[in-house]
Amino acid sequence: MTNSAKTLCPYCGVGCGLEVLPPAQPGKPTNRDSQGTPIWQVRGDRSHPSSQGKVCVKGATVSESLDKNRLKYPMMRDSLDESFRRVSWDEALEAIVHRIQTVLQTQGPDGLSMYGSGQFQTEDYYIAQKLFKGFLGTNNFDANSRLCMSSAVAGYTQSFGSDGPPCCYEDLELTDCAFLIGTNTAECHPIVFNRLRQHHKQNRKVKMVVVDPRRTKTAEVADLHLAIKPGTDIDLFNGIAHLLMRWGTIDTYFIDECTQNFPAYAEVISHYPPELVARNCEIRLDDLETAAKYWAKSERVLSLWSMGMNQSSEGTAKVRTLINLHLMTRNIGKPGAGPFSLTGQPNAMGGREAGGLANILPGYRVITNPQHCAEMEQFWGRPPGSIRPQRGLTGVEMMRALETGDIGFLWIAATNPAVSMPDVKRTQEALRRSPFTVYQDAYYPTETSEYAHILLPAAQWSEKTGVMTNSERVVTLCPEFRDPPGEARPDWAVLAEVGRRLGFVEAFRFNSSAEVFAEFVQCTEGRPCDYSGLSHDRLRQQGPLQWPYPYQWPSPEGEEEKEQNRTNKRLYTDLRFNTPDGRARFAAYHSKGLAEPPDTDYPFILTTGRLYGHWHTQTRTGHIPKIRKMHPTPFIEIHPRDAARFKIEENSLVEVRSRRGVARFPAMITEAIAPGTVFVPMHWGALWADDAEANALTHPIACPSSLQPELKACAVQLEKVTIP
Ligand code: SF4
Repeated sequence: MTNSAKTLCPYCGVGCGLEVLPPAQPGKPTNRDSQGTPIWQVRGDRSHPSSQGKVCVKGATVSESLDKNRLKYPMMRDSLDESFRRVSWDEALEAIVHRIQTVLQTQGPDGLSMYGSGQFQTEDYYIAQKLFKGFLGTNNFDANSRLCMSSAVAGYTQSFGSDGPPCCYEDLELTDCAFLIGTNTAECHPIVFNRLRQHHKQNRKVKMVVVDPRRTKTAEVADLHLAIKPGTDIDLFNGIAHLLMRWGTIDTYFIDECTQNFPAYAEVISHYPPELVARNCEIRLDDLETAAKYWAKSERVLSLWSMGMNQSSEGTAKVRTLINLHLMTRNIGKPGAGPFSLTGQPNAMGGREAGGLANILPGYRVITNPQHCAEMEQFWGRPPGSIRPQRGLTGVEMMRALETGDIGFLWIAATNPAVSMPDVKRTQEALRRSPFTVYQDAYYPTETSEYAHILLPAAQWSEKTGVMTNSERVVTLCPEFRDPPGEARPDWAVLAEVGRRLGFVEAFRFNSSAEVFAEFVQCTEGRPCDYSGLSHDRLRQQGPLQWPYPYQWPSPEGEEEKEQNRTNKRLYTDLRFNTPDGRARFAAYHSKGLAEPPDTDYPFILTTGRLYGHWHTQTRTGHIPKIRKMHPTPFIEIHPRDAARFKIEENSLVEVRSRRGVARFPAMITEAIAPGTVFVPMHWGALWADDAEANALTHPIACPSSLQPELKACAVQLEKVTIP
């Protein structure tokens, strides 16, 4: 297959449109990578509404990774001590089916589990969770999005009655004031940041406030950088709210007519006078007051956040206390305003909508709601009671269940938990104990393939057709434009084949991903994330479209006008929310702080994050010379004062210890990090560097509501390594 195509970048949740062209074009020299290998040409798709032709270095170089380190054939081994042997798909699938049946008989359905990924297309997600939740009888299907944005899901759901970012990227160019909290947008969501930065540069009255313990590239261009002490976000939000109340710059009409629980919230924020908040957050009082003034004086305030808020043991509370500020000032449901979470992965959003976490079902249904379970049972033709209204195990909990022997079958797909999980040494040990692990991925080897019994080669983006949804709810069809290598197959097709071999022939009889998508959209009809007007054909012909999208196609008479006047750019423009009474909910939370604050034994706070060029655990970007050159080695950022105390010089090797493990990094001495805090990037696993796993140190404790782990902060000690 050698067609050019319009598709979506498969890296981050910004979801930039790409145009790809075959390596050889008539009359032009063949496009080659730095080693001379012919590669697909990639450029920004000017017609894509989200990115308008812009791409960052990851998107621009993605084709260089497509043929590197590919897993091409199914492989098996009986124990981890053995080498893999190549097997047929038939042999591999029969072994999987046999194991599932054995575990069902010996341990019951909850002995089964699957850990998927925000790299899945929506069709992959839909089939995976249909198989596990609908037909195998277990809700143990979770995805790596749990590590990335589940606090945003919980925050939106609890405040507004359902998940769903209410804003769109156009708001970046319409806002009067942008608050960026716990997000290094300039490096991690660069095309979103460029749009905001352009608007900020061109309009001197527009303010940008960055809340981050590090002086990141994002913070460098802000009007105000609040380098708060890690874990004090809720103090800050409640402190700003206190000042807004004191100044009377709140919208009492909106609060009275459209919200609930304001009195309880008002009581909580009365305990956050600015002097106390500035002290707790370790920021200047006048900076706190300036931030509150920016908010108070702006007609349209937009807040953006990502993992700095979400990856916290009080992640949901942080999200909700930020939403409170929007509610008390009616900064929602209008252009340029609203709380806007940025998703990390290309289709984490599609996963949310397709039921791709252990606590949800398709169409923003909640698994603990018996009515929602009954709706999906009916939709799938399953007997009443077959979906239990209780959440399944999260990814971290699956690892714990491996330790106790409660899981007899683990299927991992399109993710690399042997690097990305918190407390990763314990995760690796748990994986080593797993009695039966299937690892389905495009790449081999990875750190996780070391723990697998069966390897299944996955067709990746570019080699299969499916849909992905970005942070602003724009749905894009990503067509297959090249052949998969060897015997690689799309994830959804592998899962459907297993479903059929288990005897669920009709339920998993799909001839194409278009048919899978057609079934998925039906079960979203009338739900907050209504996809029911979408199809592969429509997306192919009309290009990317934004949900909610209930508009039928071809449009029945009279519907065309409705479609043209559709108001789906922003949610809640009518100020009616998805709660039973249509009112949004204020949340009354006090700050709890870090789960593991520094102490005399572990006196530093470690925070982790991402770099501009790399993606996740480097399965792709580690093979791209330009990106490796940008970020050749891991490092630890240390403030000069702390470096002097420990006699650490630039590039000295520093041993970092937490209560869970140890890692070593060359020092980067910089005032960009506050004294008492250190930063390491999370991209390096055992394949890429010795002893530089950030997650050997991190804490697995999770937010009780979202179950998202506190990957962003833990207590560590430092020691300079003396090389004899
Ligand atoms: Fe891809 Fe994200 Fe870069 Fe856009 S900003 S090109 S989606 S990595």
